[in-house]
Amino acid sequence: MDEPSAKPRVAIDGDLTREERLRRLTSLSRGFTYASSLNEILQYAAQQAADLLAAEKAILMLADDEGLLRVHASFGVSDDLVSRFRASFDESLASRLTGLFGTEEGFLGVPLVAQGRVIGLLAVMRRADVENSDDDEWLLSALADQMAAPLENAQLAAKIQHAALLVENARLYESERNARREAEAARAEADVRRQEAEAANRAKSEFIANMSHELRTPLNAIAGYVELLEMGLHGTVTPGQREDLRRIGQNQRMLLGLINDVLNFAKLEAGHVEFQLSRVPLHETLANLEALVMPQLRARSLHYAYSPVDPTVTVYADREKLQQIVLNVLTNAIKYTGAGGEIQLSATATDDAVRIHVRDTGRGIAPDKLDQIFEPFVRVDTGYTRATEGTGLGLSISRDLARAMGGDLTVRSVLGEGSTFILSLPARKG
Ligand code: ADP
Repeated sequence: MDEPSAKPRVAIDGDLTREERLRRLTSLSRGFTYASSLNEILQYAAQQAADLLAAEKAILMLADDEGLLRVHASFGVSDDLVSRFRASFDESLASRLTGLFGTEEGFLGVPLVAQGRVIGLLAVMRRADVENSDDDEWLLSALADQMAAPLENAQLAAKIQHAALLVENARLYESERNARREAEAARAEADVRRQEAEAANRAKSEFIANMSHELRTPLNAIAGYVELLEMGLHGTVTPGQREDLRRIGQNQRMLLGLINDVLNFAKLEAGHVEFQLSRVPLHETLANLEALVMPQLRARSLHYAYSPVDPTVTVYADREKLQQIVLNVLTNAIKYTGAGGEIQLSATATDDAVRIHVRDTGRGIAPDKLDQIFEPFVRVDTGYTRATEGTGLGLSISRDLARAMGGDLTVRSVLGEGSTFILSLPARKG
């Protein structure tokens, strides 16, 4: 075998014959083709350079955008050294290479050239006792030439990938901005719709309030004229006529009650109800109610029991509203309790709250209806309910009033056995 170098070469372990080296060099191109990333190509090149030249160490540097050489792959050099000298640009290239290889001896390096431009450096460090020949240099250059094209391709691919990433990021940013804009538009649209709905609701409540108010005037006139007739101011009233007048009066009162309910409800909905809160003596308020419901109690033959409350107990509420709520719950108890039943009114008080209980032995309420009865216009539909007058607004109004005064209205009931409505209110100013 011809030795191109005149200098004697020391045979070292793993040193290859010239043919073997050439054969290896040819097969290298396949290795570059299979490498799938820039890193793999660089790592493969460093390793093959060491292998081909039976070198202990190999370094591959690439020029960055500013033309500075940075270590990109290495073989046989510790990670510590690589990171120390990778980018220490204060030092000269020669001293960086000495630092990386640990010696100046056995150094062999060739430029990496692509399209006539130096793009990096491939260097190996061989054992000190091995002389570098021209053949070795030629071999390293041939390896450097072989990797130039795949290296450029990989760099290009990496650039394309980076550009694609930028485009994708821009696209994501754009679509996120669009989504945000759409969400904002939807929110604004929903706001407009909500304002329209609120305006419509206010208009409806005001219409109901006005209409109910207008209906009360002729109804009160009817009551007045019935009284005039009953008093005989327009001539003697026969027993038949008196009975008819009684019925007219009864229906007039019923109609007035219904209209008052609707009016109250509409006022509450429109937020037109004002509360005069003060310390109200509880016993006084509750004791007065008996007289108001006595006619109904008698008509339905019901027993009524009021357990007197300590006269010093007060409740922080609007006096009229408090009476309205308890009266409404009492009237219900009377309406929904059969003849011979019993209605009890009692109250308990703590430092913070007062609880008023209205208990009846009436038909009771099914468990699944307990929540519904507080909704406006809900009447639990039984033959009994249909036979009794009502709008289904009383409890809704009462609970709204109780809550507006810082309290609540709840119910416990057993179907067929009776119900207890509990009105809780603050004992003092909160
Ligand atoms: P109304 O009495 O005008 O129907 P309410 O809102 O006062 O309206 O009551 C709603 C429904 O709750 C009533 O229709 C009735 O079915 C039920 N209810 C209320 N109080 C009682 C009670 N004490 N016992 C049984 N059912 C009751």
